[in-house]
Amino acid sequence: MKHDKLNTIAVQAGINSDEHHGAVVPAMHLSSTYSLKGFNEKRQYDYSRSGNPTRTTLAEVIADLEGGSTGVITGTGMSAIHLVCQLLTNEDTLLIPHDCYGGSYRLFTHLAARGVFKLQVVDQTNEQQLSDALAKKPKLVLLETPSNPLLRLVDIAKICQQAKDVGALVAVDNTFLSPLLQRPLDLGADIVIHSTTKFINGHSDVVGGAVVTKDAELGETLTWWANCIGITGSPFDSYLTLRGIKTLPIRLKQHDENTKQLVQFLQSHPAISTIHYPGLVDHPGHDIAKAQQTGFGSMFSFELNGGEAQVKALFANVKLFTLAQSLGGVESLISHPSTMTHAGMDLDAQKAAGINQTLIRVSVGLEDISDIIEDLNNALNASQAVSK
Ligand code: PLP
Repeated sequence: MKHDKLNTIAVQAGINSDEHHGAVVPAMHLSSTYSLKGFNEKRQYDYSRSGNPTRTTLAEVIADLEGGSTGVITGTGMSAIHLVCQLLTNEDTLLIPHDCYGGSYRLFTHLAARGVFKLQVVDQTNEQQLSDALAKKPKLVLLETPSNPLLRLVDIAKICQQAKDVGALVAVDNTFLSPLLQRPLDLGADIVIHSTTKFINGHSDVVGGAVVTKDAELGETLTWWANCIGITGSPFDSYLTLRGIKTLPIRLKQHDENTKQLVQFLQSHPAISTIHYPGLVDHPGHDIAKAQQTGFGSMFSFELNGGEAQVKALFANVKLFTLAQSLGGVESLISHPSTMTHAGMDLDAQKAAGINQTLIRVSVGLEDISDIIEDLNNALNASQAVSK
């Protein structure tokens, strides 16, 4: 039975689909290969790289949550992004934001350097830069909104319209919000990309990715490429991700609530000079967030007063927060984009994107908010004490 409300889609994924045994929760299918009924008589599945029932269930639920026709599940978020690059030839141009995830930036710049496609890197929040770049007729425009790690926002519907006018496809990396908080296909995008490693799985025990298309033919092309280059996700990871998805709506509610309270507290902390969080009314993307998102998410970043000594003291004094890459898990994480998630960008590119050495990124978890606040407050106080 098909559902159209997001909480129900997430919870009901695969439930009661086992006609053989009546298992309520769908089984995990680990078999790498499937028998033919007879000579040249294939069943739905023949080999797990090409297709797998557990992976299909995950692909369908993510596609349904995004309102797309087709979902492709990949082994990592980066392979999902790489998959979308298969749409480009060496004659085509890819247009990307200058402040995207560091791993994406590294992939695009290295592929472009080898002549796989042409690359334009612009500040997509700058209307002039963006329209100049679109006038050069890129084949594909990648948006990352909110962006990692500066939480910059762009107007998806507006850019999709501009892109359509020049015949470009638009792909949106929706990792920071998930389909529960933003549905780019409804706003005119052609493709949505996820690192399912983050909120969609939500338990920091899977690395995975997904690509969803609005158009079935485009979905078929990407499904073909995913099998051809062999980047489809594993059944076990798909199973865990399906399990994670069931609590995505409820997790996001608590992530959101904790983040609002934490940011409110940090606003008056003297160790912090700037907070980048779209939920703040003075954030440059606040109005866009209200229009195109159904929540502000639980990612934010802030800039510390001081320098390296203060940054080191902050990280040395967090106890509940873990100093680690990644985001979107149930546990609170803290990271230093310049030396961690965005190390794939050279320092000049980081500077151009606005990533400085005192920028700290936070992924707010589901612990008691009083513990989260107390921990960050203690660490910030310790970082301030260093400068005295
Ligand atoms: N896109 C964004 C916005 C990310 O933050 C990340 C990873 O942090 C990726 C893509 C890559 O995903 P993965 O680490 O699952 O390959």
